[in-house]
Amino acid sequence: MSFIISAQDHEEMKKLASLVRVMNSLGHNPATSGNYSLRSKTSPEIALVSESGIDKSKFSEENFLPIYWETRQMHPDYKNAGRKSSDETDIHLTIYQITKANCVLHSHMVDALLFADLFYGKPYATIEGLELLKGFRGIKTHDLKINIPCFDNTQDIATLAEQIKPAILAQKNNYGLLLRGHGIYVWGDSVEEAKRHLEVFEYIFKYYLNSRRGY
Ligand SMILES: [Zn+2]
Repeated sequence: MSFIISAQDHEEMKKLASLVRVMNSLGHNPATSGNYSLRSKTSPEIALVSESGIDKSKFSEENFLPIYWETRQMHPDYKNAGRKSSDETDIHLTIYQITKANCVLHSHMVDALLFADLFYGKPYATIEGLELLKGFRGIKTHDLKINIPCFDNTQDIATLAEQIKPAILAQKNNYGLLLRGHGIYVWGDSVEEAKRHLEVFEYIFKYYLNSRRGY
């Protein structure tokens, strides 16, 4: 049975594709890096994940591929056409499995790498005490700590996707995952919320990098 993208999903894909192009112009995904996804609103067993190797300045809604997030298989129509989703698809699918996220953004922004280095060797990077923390869903005060899980980079994405599960589940009010020397995954309830969460992380990383807190 062929998979028809619903009008509702198509709108979200357009919205996310437009964000991807903006993020590209801001240095989040040079040299085809970075990957993006949505949980389908009309086929909840499907995640729409960005295609591998696309120049993000040219990214469009046609560059999302439907993947069954439980079996991790791409819809046969797309597989037979020789198309391939991002190498890091498993990370997106795991986030959909264990959180209520509907959108996942993966950025290679340099500040995420530098920030993770401030917490070298630690399982979490802790952020605290800043007003902008209230930009995260459910947070009403600056007076709390958030632990962002940090993992070493690897090319073994299937193993990493298993390892991140307990680390993400253990943290309340956290919407990010750092990979050292690589980048950050950020998620939210919608494209708009994931974007807002990314902006909070970016701002806080800049603050820590400039103030040298975290050592
Ligand atoms: Zn990456």
